[in-house]
Amino acid sequence: MSGPPPAAEVILPLPVARPYTYRIPDGLAAHAVPGARVIVPVRRLRMIGVVAALIAPEPGRDLRDVLATPDAEPALTPELLRLARWIADYYGSPLGLALRALLPGPLWQAARPAGPRETGERVLTLTRGLPSLLERERAFKRSARRRVAYEAVESLGGSAPVRHLVTQLGLSPAVLAGLVTQGLARFEVMVQQRDPFTGLSSPPPPVLTPDQGRVVEAIAATPTDVPVLIHGVTGSGKTLVYLEVMRRLVASGQGAILLVPEIALTPQTVARVRGVFGDQVAVLHSGLSEGERADAWRALRRGERRVAVGPRSAVFAPIPRLGVIVVDEEHEASYKQGTAPRYHARDVARVRAQLEGARLLLGSATPSLETLHLVDEGVVRLLSLPERVGARPLPPVEIVDLRSAPRVAEARGLPWSEALDTAVRDALAQGDQVILLLNRRGFATYLQCPACGDVRECSHCAIALTVHQAPAALRCHYCAHAEPVPTACGVCGHAFQRMRGIGTQQLEHFVARRFPAARIARMDLDTTSTKWAHHRILERVARREVDVLLGTQMIAKGLDFPGVTVVGVVDADTGLHLPDFRAGERTFQLVAQVAGRAGRGPKGGRVFVQTRAPDHHAIQAAREHSVRRFAAVELPLRAAPHPVYPPHTGLARFVVAAVDADVAARAAERVAAWLRRASAERLGDALTVLGPAPCPIPRLKGRWRWHVLVKSAERRAVGRVVRAWGRGPGGGGRGGVIVDRDPVAVL
Ligand code: ADP
Ligand code: ZN
Repeated sequence: MSGPPPAAEVILPLPVARPYTYRIPDGLAAHAVPGARVIVPVRRLRMIGVVAALIAPEPGRDLRDVLATPDAEPALTPELLRLARWIADYYGSPLGLALRALLPGPLWQAARPAGPRETGERVLTLTRGLPSLLERERAFKRSARRRVAYEAVESLGGSAPVRHLVTQLGLSPAVLAGLVTQGLARFEVMVQQRDPFTGLSSPPPPVLTPDQGRVVEAIAATPTDVPVLIHGVTGSGKTLVYLEVMRRLVASGQGAILLVPEIALTPQTVARVRGVFGDQVAVLHSGLSEGERADAWRALRRGERRVAVGPRSAVFAPIPRLGVIVVDEEHEASYKQGTAPRYHARDVARVRAQLEGARLLLGSATPSLETLHLVDEGVVRLLSLPERVGARPLPPVEIVDLRSAPRVAEARGLPWSEALDTAVRDALAQGDQVILLLNRRGFATYLQCPACGDVRECSHCAIALTVHQAPAALRCHYCAHAEPVPTACGVCGHAFQRMRGIGTQQLEHFVARRFPAARIARMDLDTTSTKWAHHRILERVARREVDVLLGTQMIAKGLDFPGVTVVGVVDADTGLHLPDFRAGERTFQLVAQVAGRAGRGPKGGRVFVQTRAPDHHAIQAAREHSVRRFAAVELPLRAAPHPVYPPHTGLARFVVAAVDADVAARAAERVAAWLRRASAERLGDALTVLGPAPCPIPRLKGRWRWHVLVKSAERRAVGRVVRAWGRGPGGGGRGGVIVDRDPVAVL
């Protein structure tokens, strides 16, 4: 036999189980190789697919031709193609969806592979600050609506796209124009979205401390195929260790990937990476346009840049000669993808590192129980940085029992203790900065009728609506539903409705009144929905233009501000009692991480954790900044005689959702029956099948939800059943059922 096989199995980015077969015309044979992008006809469309394999077609089969091969080199190396197959296999997802995750969006556009150009966007920018309440009241004496608009833009960092203000926040264009007429703002057209990361100062890296040096040498002495966990307390200087390991590899001609949970929240890390690698770095942030994304991908693929920094999808950065993948804050749930393929970037990183012969480096102050388990099993090597840089002590954490601690009378319903109040006041008096965590956005958690007790729920979800202000609305945090705040009860007609539970907007309001001189910035989903908003807020904090930074979990991560001497967790219990086996772990991580923001400067720091569960091990362990202490209590709670959960068992979740409640319940019954049969007939009863049961959130976006959990100490058995399900009738999974292997939440 001579010459190349004449046909290609092509995978299209679609949820179908089988590849499509095309004939390769003579002229394209050199480029239509496994891993290459090809343009192929699909019915009357042209689509981009990836060649999975070359085959000899059955004789006499009538095949359509591959139309074009756009790249000089295959888009995917053999290793990345194998990684895609692993993802498809492990997560039970069609190979086409795994490939779609591997290559950035614009590379799938047959018509314009480089992606569209950004067009100009109209932006409203505030031109005058109104720092004092008095000025503010004077300026908006006649127009409360203008004030709402002004404050909305202000909380978005002083500048926001007009489209966002009008369509998302419901502000009227006339009111925005009014601000301009009044000389408080102006309209601008942003032609090019500037990458704010390029403007950051990039300090040269300091010299390693002896501890850091010891860890770097220990890593170098560890065989490449042994993953390493750096367990370093908050402020121990993990970033510099990553950078030194990466620097050595890049100096020897290899490439590196640094994964961060959310790029917008880690400008400081990005700046440090730029400081070391300069133009060698591609920062893969969500603000890139399609064209920029494609450009970054190509620069990496060609080896023009050898370091990629980004969130979970950066694990697929096409770096030749990959030397190391670093996963910073490896415990973060944001590494899990929420749509198919539901991969966990930390676990994908481990497999990719194996396939490429690269090193895997995980880092965290609060490692996941999964990773600690792998350490205990001898799979992952543990290296510790037990002290902060400069021998700074970890801040003492004071637990404030909200059931008994004296509260500030003026705070009324707000959980605001004397202890926290005094600490904040003292810090502000000394010109220090304060961080306040409240992991609930909005103004109030829900609206309740004091007469009949009715709680206003979303009409599409089994979730109470959250009260928002500026602009006022009831909003559902799960779907886009919003409605006006009612003046009377929808059930009994009672005139006055009571707000219950506080959110960040109300906290901001309160803090502004309590400390009128303080400059406050709020950071939550509502203030950061526009491009670079996180960045603008954090920059202001870094320049010390902000005295109090308050917000949801996004302020708990990675921030390194030496001016912060007080951290307050206003209500540590917001997630503690969720019906999810990770509720305690998440609470521990959140509280310990935010506590770690305090005391990074010479003045030291203090932390106040307000809770109604002061004895809970999540709270107690956070007080000691000790994941080991947390794990010592938590791990036995996830083992018999309790219901067994990861890391002691493999877990997959099957979720059924349907508009009709009975349809959902019956479909879930069938899923459970199928799983039980599969376990008995094919897997020697290796699986424990739980359910079906209604999900803890039983209705979302108009669909009723049921789930079935599958557990097995034999992880392979979970994999086999997930794969078998995906291959079932209909192929590529069955309509309406979501399969989530290694779920990070089961709500
Ligand atoms: P972690 O990620 O472990 O919480 P960081 O990497 O943010 O810690 O480092 C904490 C602080 O210590 C940062 O301000 C960093 O610039 C500083 N730092 C780290 N290593 C050194 C060093 N070798 N010498 C001086 N300062 C350092
Ligand atoms: Zn809803």
